[in-house]
Amino acid sequence: ASKSMDELVALCKRRGFVYPASEIYGGLNGFWDYGPLGTALKNNIRDHWWKHMVECPPIGPDGNPVSIVGLDSSIIQNPKTWEASGHVGGFSDPMVDCTETKKRYRADQVEVLIVEGKGKWAFMENQPDTIAKKLKKAGVALDDGERKLLTDLDLSEYATIVAPDTDKPGTLTEPREFNLMFDTTVGAIKSEDNKAYLRPETAQGIFLNYKNVVDTMRVKMPFGIAQIGKSFRNEVTPRNFIFRSREFEQMEMEWFCAPDEALQWYDFWKHERMRWWKTLGIEESNLIFRDHDDDELAHYSNACVDVEYKYPFTAPGYGELEGVAHRGCFDLTQHQTHSKTKMEYFDQPRQLAAKEEGKSKEEINEVSKYIPNVIEPASGLTRAVLVLLCEAFTPDESRASKVYMKFKPKFAPVKAGIFPLVNKDGMPEKALSLYMELREKFTCEYDAKQSIGKRYARMDEIGTPFCFTVDGDTATDDSVTVRHRDTQEQERVNISQVESFLAEKLAD
Ligand code: ATP
Repeated sequence: ASKSMDELVALCKRRGFVYPASEIYGGLNGFWDYGPLGTALKNNIRDHWWKHMVECPPIGPDGNPVSIVGLDSSIIQNPKTWEASGHVGGFSDPMVDCTETKKRYRADQVEVLIVEGKGKWAFMENQPDTIAKKLKKAGVALDDGERKLLTDLDLSEYATIVAPDTDKPGTLTEPREFNLMFDTTVGAIKSEDNKAYLRPETAQGIFLNYKNVVDTMRVKMPFGIAQIGKSFRNEVTPRNFIFRSREFEQMEMEWFCAPDEALQWYDFWKHERMRWWKTLGIEESNLIFRDHDDDELAHYSNACVDVEYKYPFTAPGYGELEGVAHRGCFDLTQHQTHSKTKMEYFDQPRQLAAKEEGKSKEEINEVSKYIPNVIEPASGLTRAVLVLLCEAFTPDESRASKVYMKFKPKFAPVKAGIFPLVNKDGMPEKALSLYMELREKFTCEYDAKQSIGKRYARMDEIGTPFCFTVDGDTATDDSVTVRHRDTQEQERVNISQVESFLAEKLAD
């Protein structure tokens, strides 16, 4: 598994999907830059989510499309936001400090290895290879049990020996809580009063604007507010490529509804989100639901389920891709308390219906005035990029490229390569004119460099589903060769049909 991850990370670098951030300065742990192709892939996923959340939202249980509006809120908000949301007090990971090396680790990833006659070693976070090497250097031979401990560590992917200790793992302090929010200063004076935070999730920006949206848009219960954007978490141990990074993008939607309908909507969004992930072309058996146990739920949450994917580093197990949570009225109530702004919703259709049923004044009030409940599907856009990269990565020794990226055509960064077979006899002119026509509709690349075989190989590696080649026959039959990425088969298509050919292949 880690071998294929290494190969994937190498391909991502080599072909311009993902680069380590500030690489020329040695990088910065937990930060990544998306290259030209990674940006295109990310935008494709982002647009698909926006389209199916905001522009063409799914059909609800009543047979009509549900109503969702979009938002783009500020990354830095009034710091009181994060007190109300619970992030200042509670958004933390247990952490231990190693007093010798001054390094910090997540407490749950600390392992202690007992080596006969050598005392205890506390280690974690590094390739098991590195541990083995360090042990060897220290002249430590491992027995089978100890070796197994190391192998088990493979599950957490990385582990480092932080300190050899002669008696007990006393070099590690007691676990303490470490807040994951990045803070910064607003204004010229650096003081506690001017401290602000980079948002650790996009959701709170939605809650802060709930009232604005109700007051200014023609929305009525139930409805959703969707947002895509960057979030920041000072993760103690960023790892597994872009799976857990310190700066990442989220796609979140807060669905507001009457309290007595919340469970039904929770169920609706749970299944709707799974259906959506499958439209990305992800193999069904690689996706599962994982319902949270009662003791895993946040105190305010009534139910929560994760959509999980079988990543190469979790296989045969699965890891989180999206969480769908029933958050009750926790968030709006918190903001009501902290901001003194009323978040109660007046539900006129319910009031009228209750009146018609001849309900008492108290009963009418009870059903028509409420703080909405919230169902939250929260996913990672950059994590979705990783999923599509893992899903597409297909080793194939028979090809010149040895590997190809089998993206569903709709999500491929480049939809079509347009080539002249050779750089003469009017072929470049014809290919260029085809390219100029197609680029208005699809992301295409014109390429006339190197041999045709090399051009196909590069397109395989970046996952371009179709290549159109103008050759010697084009001048007489007005056709081009189309090469299919997955089968490597070639067929002839009339130039005038290329656009409709592509449109059909790229449909949902
Ligand atoms: P975890 O338990 O793995 O830390 P979480 O449950 O705190 O994650 P949420 O707060 O529910 O995650 O965030 C929603 C989604 O945002 C996650 O499902 C994931 O796709 C994405 N996400 C969260 N943290 C990160 C991160 N550090 N890097 C990349 N994506 C992330």
